[in-house]
Amino acid sequence: MNFNLTVVGGGHAGLEAAWIAAELGLKVALITSPNVKIGSTPCNPAIGGVGKGQVVREIDAMGGLMGLLADLSGIQYRTLNESKGYAVQSTRVQLDKDIYASNAEKLITSHKNITVIQKKVDKIERDKLGSFLFFDELRDLIVESDKVVVTTGTFLGGVLHRGCEKKKGGRVGCSSSKDLRDLFANVKTLGKKFKTGTPPRLDKNTINFSKMMPQPSDIKANSFHCLHKSSQRFLPQVECYLTRTNEETLEIIRENKEDSPIFNGQIQGVGPRYCPSIEDKAFRYPDRNTHHVFIEPEGLETQSVYPNGVSTSLPASIQESFIRTISGLENVEFLVHGYAVEYDVVDVTQLDETLQSQDIEGLYFAGQINGTSGYEEAAGQGLIAGINAALSFLGKSPLVFNRMDSYIGVMVGDLTSNKRDEPYRLFTARSENRLFIREDNVINRLAPYRKALGQNRALDKFQSQYLEDYNLLSELCESYLYKKNSKNMNYFNQAGYGSLEENITLAELLKRAHLDPVETLFKELNNFGVQFLDSSVRSVAISKKYAGYIKRASTETEKIQKLSLKKINWEMLASSKNISHECRLRISQIRPSSFGQLRQIEGIRPATLAFVAGNFI
Ligand SMILES: Cc1cc2nc3c(=O)[nH]c(=O)nc-3n(C[C@H](O)[C@H](O)[C@H](O)COP(=O)(O)OP(=O)(O)OC[C@H]3O[C@@H](n4cnc5c(N)ncnc54)[C@H](O)[C@@H]3O)c2cc1C
Repeated sequence: MNFNLTVVGGGHAGLEAAWIAAELGLKVALITSPNVKIGSTPCNPAIGGVGKGQVVREIDAMGGLMGLLADLSGIQYRTLNESKGYAVQSTRVQLDKDIYASNAEKLITSHKNITVIQKKVDKIERDKLGSFLFFDELRDLIVESDKVVVTTGTFLGGVLHRGCEKKKGGRVGCSSSKDLRDLFANVKTLGKKFKTGTPPRLDKNTINFSKMMPQPSDIKANSFHCLHKSSQRFLPQVECYLTRTNEETLEIIRENKEDSPIFNGQIQGVGPRYCPSIEDKAFRYPDRNTHHVFIEPEGLETQSVYPNGVSTSLPASIQESFIRTISGLENVEFLVHGYAVEYDVVDVTQLDETLQSQDIEGLYFAGQINGTSGYEEAAGQGLIAGINAALSFLGKSPLVFNRMDSYIGVMVGDLTSNKRDEPYRLFTARSENRLFIREDNVINRLAPYRKALGQNRALDKFQSQYLEDYNLLSELCESYLYKKNSKNMNYFNQAGYGSLEENITLAELLKRAHLDPVETLFKELNNFGVQFLDSSVRSVAISKKYAGYIKRASTETEKIQKLSLKKINWEMLASSKNISHECRLRISQIRPSSFGQLRQIEGIRPATLAFVAGNFI
């Protein structure tokens, strides 16, 4: 069977890659292991979070699946950073894992351009004409295709650890695939494995929730998918609970250090710094005697709950001892014990900003195999690889996201510019422009990219309507004047808007520190008797509120931006005697194509940047 594109792996990266390429008209084969559910969530049952919620909305604005699937399976919504103001807020949705996976499978298998093949790929080769050939474990040819996106997650060279138990596997209950180099000769790996871990799963019926603090779903939090109503819910909402570890918990862990594969040398791989195991917390922060544990349901029907914060690979008996010291978990029964997994990672500096190998044309990588951790990071890369594999097949120019206007751009820029020595996770501080890269204005930021894809779906019509409303309303805010007269002064008083000392515009009113700009704008529009799309109102209100800060920040970023877009010839730089040996070495390794990419390379000195800016562009 011949396809335009083959996607290997049906996880979060694979789903997005296959879906978007199929939407762009390619005939896509999605080959994925038979014993792993499509779109399964092997770790925490949640999508979104700080920085990650923005990525989910970016994927959604480009026509991807993650936001839609999260809404359809959402059982608890939260707005994170709520107290810090609109500019840095992010949405996080607790999922029913089974519903998420079953909707993912339904959507993917019903797309007319996607053929799902449930087999394990054992070897990928290239024939003389340049087609990629995919073989199964019996060495039978499964399919051929022009392009390939590899999204095999933690499965390549995967080794599972729990205490002294060590066995091959991609995740619990699933066998691993071969090592990356066996799957595809000539691919450069990082040379070391990465590691991640997961907590045990506990039986809901054996937990004493009355000893924990309930955390209800936020009814006002916005849904992810832009075609859903702002706070639309599809499933009943449930509570999560908060409890804590204590001195006894940490004492048990500390007493058993030599049984921890992380600390006794059994695990060599580097783990995610921002998602530490409970062993890491116990030893790296010896002065702390308590840590949060969030008790998160894994679904509406299942008994399984996920204790977020106690990821562990200690032996099963020690896991049981320390978990049962936690308030509310004294009599808890285990459904699955926690474990860690080590896996192979691609050397992402060998990829360009479309996530295509610089050495093997037509070969793309996305997701955890690129050294990231997290569903959202994986999905964002899947989208980029899928779009670009499709554009390349169609003979069109690539689509590269700018880091100044998207977190996906930030992530891909960071990944392809630096050799990774630890798993990569997105957070807002990675962006130079985070006041602008917000959840609320995702359509303003991403619509131009979507337009470049030349699609004409319901999403595109919605985006046009949104932008029309946004522009009209933005003008209205600047032009509508509250004249200083007794009627308006009274009204300001009654409405709690403060005093009216001089004529002010609606935009100026929204900037007042004590007012919630979103509520105020909705209220005023209601008074005027005019209606706009809810999402446009929200975004206009927030951009007016922060206009001053955003302008200041954007003047700075524009300067950097102009320079960043300039193309450079890395070969000339790598042979320049005026650049230090170390910098030249890094330039040759990464092969940057723009000044922006050069800037992102770790270890490139300011003096080198100044020299390049002054002499090469
Ligand atoms: C134990 C564990 C703990 C984790 N902990 C965290 C955490 O703390 N924080 C966090 O953010 N993320 C965590 N994750 C990571 C999160 O699950 C991933 O980031 C995310 O699922 C990656 O998506 P992906 O699409 O790259 O890969 P996956 O979702 O893993 O999907 C890979 C897919 O490829 C398929 N596949 C693999 N090899 C082959 C082959 N040879 N042929 C055909 N199909 C193949 C698999 O069946 C699977 O469907 C954890 C994952 C695991 C397994």
